[in-house]
Amino acid sequence: MKYDKPITMRRAIVEMDGDEMTRVLWRKIKDTLISPFVSLNVEYYDLGLPERDRTGDVVTREAAKAIKRLGVGVKCATITANAQRVGEYHLKQMWPSPNATLRAALDGTVFRAPITVRNIAPAVRTWKKPIVIARHAYGDIYKGVEMRVPGAGLAELAFTSDDGNRSVVPIHRFDGAGVLQAVHNTDASIEAFARACFRFALSSGQDLWFASKDTISKRYDHHFKDVFERVYETEYRDAFTTVGIHYYYMLIDDAVARVVRSEGGFVWACKNYDGDVMSDMVSAAFGSLAMMTSVLVSPNGQFEYEAAHGTVTRHYRRFLAGETTSTNPIATIFAWTGALRKSGEIDSNTELVGFANKLERACIDTIEGGQATRDLTSLSVEPMEALSTDEFLAAIKARLAKD
Ligand code: NAP
Ligand code: MG
Repeated sequence: MKYDKPITMRRAIVEMDGDEMTRVLWRKIKDTLISPFVSLNVEYYDLGLPERDRTGDVVTREAAKAIKRLGVGVKCATITANAQRVGEYHLKQMWPSPNATLRAALDGTVFRAPITVRNIAPAVRTWKKPIVIARHAYGDIYKGVEMRVPGAGLAELAFTSDDGNRSVVPIHRFDGAGVLQAVHNTDASIEAFARACFRFALSSGQDLWFASKDTISKRYDHHFKDVFERVYETEYRDAFTTVGIHYYYMLIDDAVARVVRSEGGFVWACKNYDGDVMSDMVSAAFGSLAMMTSVLVSPNGQFEYEAAHGTVTRHYRRFLAGETTSTNPIATIFAWTGALRKSGEIDSNTELVGFANKLERACIDTIEGGQATRDLTSLSVEPMEALSTDEFLAAIKARLAKD
């Protein structure tokens, strides 16, 4: 790649900064691998916890609006505040998860795909191809309301329609203290999720699996099953047949058992919580959380790219103590390449698309060439050189600049 004339971007994308070790990585990635080659056109939002606290979390909501307006965003990992973080950062309150806010605002589906490399064998021996997890990004416990039940009494679930009709079902008669939870979802969101999954399966030529617990949850989960079935039969069956792919519904526990014995190479649609948990399992089994990419796709065609992992707090503590860290930047780099490629595709900017592809190739070639961060070298099937984050970024840059 030539340095003298950076690639120009016609449209702005939304850049969302984050926290801790990934915030450190963010800057290094931009300085080393992006800014020398691309004249960045971004609208910047600082979603780091101090700025979310200062703005009363307005900055997160503004970022979501900006993605709706501009169409493409790239996000650094952020801290989800909990009681411990409230103390650590002296927060005004326990702000909601930025990812939950963005997902709710865009009502999108999150697709998570592992980046596979030749020299890292998946922990599950039968897996030969990536497994893409499609996580429903709206509702269920992420929009749940909860209550501590102080003592004996009757819990009921009530709904009052706008025209005044009220239906009530008993939940449980408590003999003593306990807990309560109410969750919801909407037909519109479930349908959008189903369509996003069928479309993604079609465009990537992979089978689609969907699983829930409909035998136990006869109204809630069963409704998900019915919606998927209806959308498939009325809108996608013919296209699936033409492409030669299949849609399978199964029980979630059956799906888990089948996934572990499969070869991979399919899209696994998961309800919100299942997707949260299973994506971490799948990424860990494919190698490292640091090799899992994530993209939130809205029904209106907006895209938000990020790494699937968090802010890598343990490494950040060591970084603050002055130690050299070996934090893997790959998933965060692929968030940038994903966003730049999408922006290039929308604008027919072949140079930008070409750059994104080259940068990804340089990352994979560096790892397959035997150099990586420690999380990967320890998993490799052949001897590798363990590098610090800075050394690894320099090695990727050297390959990129050679092209
Ligand atoms: P994490 O940041 O994903 O890290 C968990 C562990 O996974 C790390 O300690 C590290 O293991 C390994 N790891 C993850 N990413 C790595 C990388 N790039 N390179 C090398 N190793 C990596 O999860 P967490 O520690 O549970 O969460 C930390 C913070 O991130 C929390 O505040 C959480 O709220 C937030 N979070 C944010 C997002 C998001 O913004 N999308 C997602 C998840 C969590 P070793 O220590 O063994 O090396
Ligand atoms: Mg998770």
